[in-house]
Amino acid sequence: MAAMEPTVAGPASPGRRPGIPLGRVLGFSLYLRWTVLLLVGLVTLLSGQLIGYGVGFGFVVCLLLSVLLHELGHALTARRLGIGVRGITLEILGGYTEMERDAPTPRIELLVSLAGPAVSLVLGVAAAAVAAVLPDGAVRQVAILVALANLIVAVFNSLPGLPLDGGRALRAAVWASTGSQQRGTVVSARCGQVVGAATGVAAVWLYVSGWVSEFGLVLMILVAFSLWQGATVSARAARLSGLVPLIDVDRLARPIFAVPTGTPLAEAQRQAASAGAGEAALAVADSTGRLVALVHTDAVAAVPPDRRPWVTVDSVARELAAVRSVPAGLRGADALRMLQSDPAGEYLVTTDDRVVGVLRSADVTRLLRSRSAGQ
Ligand SMILES: [Zn+2]
Repeated sequence: MAAMEPTVAGPASPGRRPGIPLGRVLGFSLYLRWTVLLLVGLVTLLSGQLIGYGVGFGFVVCLLLSVLLHELGHALTARRLGIGVRGITLEILGGYTEMERDAPTPRIELLVSLAGPAVSLVLGVAAAAVAAVLPDGAVRQVAILVALANLIVAVFNSLPGLPLDGGRALRAAVWASTGSQQRGTVVSARCGQVVGAATGVAAVWLYVSGWVSEFGLVLMILVAFSLWQGATVSARAARLSGLVPLIDVDRLARPIFAVPTGTPLAEAQRQAASAGAGEAALAVADSTGRLVALVHTDAVAAVPPDRRPWVTVDSVARELAAVRSVPAGLRGADALRMLQSDPAGEYLVTTDDRVVGVLRSADVTRLLRSRSAGQ
């Protein structure tokens, strides 16, 4: 029943509130989403009509405790293996443990992801054992329901597709065998979409053949939908992060074509084109040949072609000191962080204080767009 718990890794978006704070458990901050109260009400009401309200309420409390213990399995394993835990949140479809960073190795990813279902399995078996020795009555009924719920959670969560625990285990396996975590995420996210679709089909089939009620059908469709959505988000994030290594400042930098100060814009463009430097960035040099300003692409675009013979390059250029610079050789995530921290249009690419080229944000965006469309 409570089956979904996409474990969120990486930095949380600022200002995001994880839920109602419930204090700390074993040193972890615990939060409760208000939707849990909806679950408590609904399950108590529905199961109450069938088995009595006391049993229904007892079951839902044990269910929440089971989810908490499942998450503590993840959180304790993560902490033991050196990954900080931001907190545990209980939600209507389960819970999730928010970690401070991704697992550094496939082995740690595998251990952290399997710890949750392992706890659920142990709880399910323990509750079944308790049910086996108890005399008939309300407590035994609760024990049977808790055993069933935990076994379902253990099995369902082990299905191999993100964002389920089994999906993280699958990602770890692909990561270990290919050496690429990103490859693992892509494969596991695709499998997650399949698991989501299959859950939807299974829900309808179980309902039509009378195995589950309308409530069960709605809950399963909800689970199927969040699975599909979680898997799709993971797939997109993995595809984008796979493109980050392509950001290579040296490769993306345009060469510089310098013209003397006072040159008309049209003449500068003609000279660049005839020198085969049409793709180069125009710059302005003083009488000694030293670069003093960078011609600004947007300012050039704003000048109609028939006006360009009458406009000097200086009037559409910015002083070099006013242009941000990035070091040559920067690439991957470092380059992306730099570009994101200052999303200006153009950067000077420098090595030892010497300007060696110009990087345009638009070129980076174009590269990422063309590659992400091509996959
Ligand atoms: Zn889990």
